[in-house]
Amino acid sequence: MSRFAHEYSAEQWVDFVEGMLDREASALMRDHITGCDQCRLTYEDLVLSRSHLEQLSLRLSFISAEASERIHNAVLARIRMAQAASAGESITVGVNQLRSIIEPLCGQATTERAILSAALSCGAANSDQVETRQWMPFVGQLGTIVDTLCGASVAQWIWETARDIHWEEGL
Ligand SMILES: [Zn+2]
Repeated sequence: MSRFAHEYSAEQWVDFVEGMLDREASALMRDHITGCDQCRLTYEDLVLSRSHLEQLSLRLSFISAEASERIHNAVLARIRMAQAASAGESITVGVNQLRSIIEPLCGQATTERAILSAALSCGAANSDQVETRQWMPFVGQLGTIVDTLCGASVAQWIWETARDIHWEEGL
């Protein structure tokens, strides 16, 4: 993912990708993206993720209104995580974004259990104390646990939201 840059909010990114920005704002953003490698990569990444999530939503058999909302929320979580990670924000932002994505699919109790198990198996004392260097193992463990508890498609949903986002120390 590109670095957080260039003043677009997560909401604005998702609206742009979904064609929901007004015409003027959309034209300005398109002009910028055409000339900016970083933003073009972000745009292409979000379009790709959205398309994968659309395919997954068919397998998950959401009812249609639910599907659009969940895809929207997952893409929003992805851009928020990418922005937070590259801005050097706390990894708790990432854990909370993942929580917000898993909860509607697995329920609150299962979600908390999965997040706690993943944190413990990475050596963190609890889900608030996952360290930046533990992010990738945490996401991997979480995927494995969710796969067991809620099925492979839900695990892939989470993976699609969190893939290639790296919290790095000392940013
Ligand atoms: Zn840019």
